[in-house]
Amino acid sequence: MTIDSDRNVDSVRVRFAPSPTGYLHLGGARTALYNWLWARKRGGVFILRIEDTDVERSTQDSVEEILAGLKWLGLDWDEGPYFQTDNLSKHKEAADKLLHEGHAYRCFCSKEDLDNQRKEAESKKVAFMYDGRCRNLTPEQVQKNIENNILSVLRFKVPRDQVPSVTLEDVVYGKIEKRTKDIEDFVILRSDQSPLYILSNAVDDSLDRITHVIRGADGIANTPKQILIYNALGITPPTFAHMPLTLDNKKAKLSKRVHGEVVTVAYYRRKGFLPWALCNFLALLGWSSQDGQEFFSREELIEAFDLSRINRHNSIFNYIPGDAKNWTDPKAIHFNATYIRSMPLDEIEVYAKKELEENNLWDQSYESTKKEWFRATVDLIRTRYHLITDFSSKGRYCFSDVFEFDPKAVKKNLCQDSKLVAYIPEFAQLLDHLQEFNLENVEAVFREFALEKDVKAGLLINAARTAVSGSSVGPGLFEMLVMLGKERVVARLRDSVNLIDKHS
Ligand code: GLU
Repeated sequence: MTIDSDRNVDSVRVRFAPSPTGYLHLGGARTALYNWLWARKRGGVFILRIEDTDVERSTQDSVEEILAGLKWLGLDWDEGPYFQTDNLSKHKEAADKLLHEGHAYRCFCSKEDLDNQRKEAESKKVAFMYDGRCRNLTPEQVQKNIENNILSVLRFKVPRDQVPSVTLEDVVYGKIEKRTKDIEDFVILRSDQSPLYILSNAVDDSLDRITHVIRGADGIANTPKQILIYNALGITPPTFAHMPLTLDNKKAKLSKRVHGEVVTVAYYRRKGFLPWALCNFLALLGWSSQDGQEFFSREELIEAFDLSRINRHNSIFNYIPGDAKNWTDPKAIHFNATYIRSMPLDEIEVYAKKELEENNLWDQSYESTKKEWFRATVDLIRTRYHLITDFSSKGRYCFSDVFEFDPKAVKKNLCQDSKLVAYIPEFAQLLDHLQEFNLENVEAVFREFALEKDVKAGLLINAARTAVSGSSVGPGLFEMLVMLGKERVVARLRDSVNLIDKHS
């Protein structure tokens, strides 16, 4: 056996070990993030291990989705992806060692035998635990059963007499103790010689020289058994840090079946999230900084992160099904919007470009003759955006003359005052005559025109906004008009009269 029992805790080695049986969900991404942060903070190694031993449920699509999700999030791994199935012979080797050294035994109980034991427990209203009847078979009895081709599994022999309880010091939950009399002799090898997950997982952590197992609190149930395996194999167990679960606001576990795509990482990518905004949001689902800081750059988060500040109570993902505006936790949207608004212009430009390209709104000139215009436009419109996709939807009017008009805005801002049909062409004409189409001059046209006609400037401003952008919200009107340029503004104002006619 080549298991390395000498874990040098000074050099941190952690792993994200997803089972490729579905999509990469937010809980998984958070586990990956915490492991990645710990590795980066300690100058350690972050390993990606695909736990694909459940052959029936594991799929290649799922592997690809996990890899793509981690890459998108920017959680780069240093080793792997390793595949658990590549190590099956090592897991089997460990099981054989346990058998030969007296820490495991063959169990010949048939399914019927076990079903009967289970029924008996049910009738007595006690939790079923295998009663260990094959523990005491003599070597001759075992041999005879083998010769008679009776199928057997391998069970771990829980050392109840020598070890009254298994204790571990979890970094998050503190002391966890489990009495060995409450641990059944669990199966480690099936009758077809395939290892069980609990064994493979522990052996791989040892082969990968994992120093810290950072995983969901649902892993706590396995930990005492895995510690018994380590002890029997003479291996020092890793340090465990179990993370609280993330629940919905009705305290239910997050699942795609119940909550839909909103719990998958791929959905956030499609919807227009910035990967780091999602990471930052996920970091706070179960961890908080000492001084309450919430927004972190990658470097800051690596610096601030500490396993000891992971909370013990479950975190809440505030998701209300059917709430169209808050299609995910409002805090996640707030994080994304804040990043869009405040991240360096050079960086957001890259995302905006990609979004426009994907929607056939990109023009090469935005990188040459109209470079400055493009930068200024992105900077102007991003202040109100929540999602990267807003650049191609809400921002479409900046990059194309074909955009939608919000019927409510048209009704409210263009059709409510009948005088506008006459006014709009008039001030369009004034704008057209401007020598210099700058903020000052454009604003002066509006103010003077309002004074002359004795109407509120707001009436004209709202009408112009809807005429040139199709919406009733957006950046400051004069900035918006200057950004669009005289030609487009004048043409759109003139066209809007037809729109008024159509809606009246
Ligand atoms: N493959 C396990 C899972 O996806 C990982 C458990 C662990 O991290 O030890 O839940």
